[in-house]
Amino acid sequence: MENIRVRFAPSPTGYLHVGGLRTALYNYLFARKNNGKFILRIEDTDRSRYVEGAVENLIASLKWCGLDYDEGPDIGGDYGPYMQSQRLDIYKQHAEELIKKGHAYYCFCSPERLAALREEQSRLKVPQIKYDKHCLKLSPQEVQNKIENGEPYVIRLNVPANQTVRFYDIIRGDVEFDTNIIDDQILIKSDGYPTYHLANVVDDHLMKISHVIRGEEWLSSTPKHVLLYDYFGWEKPQFAHLPLLLNPDRSKLSKRQGDVAVEEYRAKGYLKEALINFVALLGWNAGDDREFYYLNELIEKFSLEGVNKSGAVFDLNKLIWLNGEHIRKKTVDELLPLLKDELKKSKYASNNFSDEYLKLVISAMQERIDFVHEIITKSYYFFERPTSYEEKAIQKNWKPETTEHLKLLIETFEKLNNPTKEDYENALNSVAEKLQINKGKLIHPLRLALSGTSAGPGIFDLLYILGKEEVIIRIKNAIQSLA
Ligand code: GLU
Repeated sequence: MENIRVRFAPSPTGYLHVGGLRTALYNYLFARKNNGKFILRIEDTDRSRYVEGAVENLIASLKWCGLDYDEGPDIGGDYGPYMQSQRLDIYKQHAEELIKKGHAYYCFCSPERLAALREEQSRLKVPQIKYDKHCLKLSPQEVQNKIENGEPYVIRLNVPANQTVRFYDIIRGDVEFDTNIIDDQILIKSDGYPTYHLANVVDDHLMKISHVIRGEEWLSSTPKHVLLYDYFGWEKPQFAHLPLLLNPDRSKLSKRQGDVAVEEYRAKGYLKEALINFVALLGWNAGDDREFYYLNELIEKFSLEGVNKSGAVFDLNKLIWLNGEHIRKKTVDELLPLLKDELKKSKYASNNFSDEYLKLVISAMQERIDFVHEIITKSYYFFERPTSYEEKAIQKNWKPETTEHLKLLIETFEKLNNPTKEDYENALNSVAEKLQINKGKLIHPLRLALSGTSAGPGIFDLLYILGKEEVIIRIKNAIQSLA
């Protein structure tokens, strides 16, 4: 494929939605796979929905995910500006061109007239509530006079009756719409800003977009766009409408059901690798049941033909599982800065743990967590002495004779010099033998003394990581509290 140019065209309404991330990702993958260009365009023509800081937020989320674009508002490019609010003259000129060609017209109807019209149409139960082309009857002179008198107006698309608009969608195949259900769409609003439909088509054309890849919710807008392409005499891009994202109960994914913003997932400790991997699988597969992917592998495998038509269910448990999988595949050195970030946010922020120590903790915990912050919550005992001892474990494993056993263990450990894991193991074995008891009788209370819990990494890892001095202090503390 040649000259592939695709775009992600979000409206800056606050944050990057996971659905938006999916759209951005598929555009990105398609561009990278086909040596094309990936463009970021900000569709900020709806001033009532504009949110301060939203553009910066979107850009930060895309960057965090690693979806770098080739052209965009902050980096420029040959087809800018990439903010629609900076292109108002372009849209106006194009709307005027359509008026000249008879495909658009000025409309001066008041909000009151439009409301009355809608009310009347719904009372009559007409199949489609639509504008009645009232202002199409105005003569050029009447239009001129009204404009000169400063009457507010909009510009509308003149949609013909009784026609069929046809287009091909890469995911859905042939699509048809009857023009009778299409309203005379406003192209330029009374505030002089274009609507999404006009701005989107004009920009996709001027920015030489080859493929429009976007959410299914825009499918019903596409016939209006197709009419616009035809009226301008422009070649259409190819269309691909991505399946809806659904909650597990198959309702449309919404904020009410949980987090939808990329930054919320980031704040909760999801890795960008896991989020990208998860989002890629929301409606696409490579034709097999593989689930674990890195971004570069997705680029290699992605195709629009692999995108499904049916809605994709957002399964949070799968995302959690993938997060754990990506953590397990990382090296300890890669995880170290992530753990340090989490520590900075925790109550241990002012403690100073050496990198060497933290790396040992990571290796002991890496297989046991789905989130990096679980290293801190699940095994807080690596960062402070146990503050309490698990009641159930005390009852099960702390026997009257335990104190004597542990005292003997302390004596034996004290004799060790810079002990390795094996040294601890040998020492513990020798004590068990001397006492003629099963090793478990020592290991369980020892674990409880060291960590306050009954689960965690292997006991010899625990001993080695904590170090001899700390181990002895903790055993003594436990004897004091539990004996
Ligand atoms: N501005 C639209 C949105 O926010 C873009 C839709 C499209 O890609 O055409 O999703």
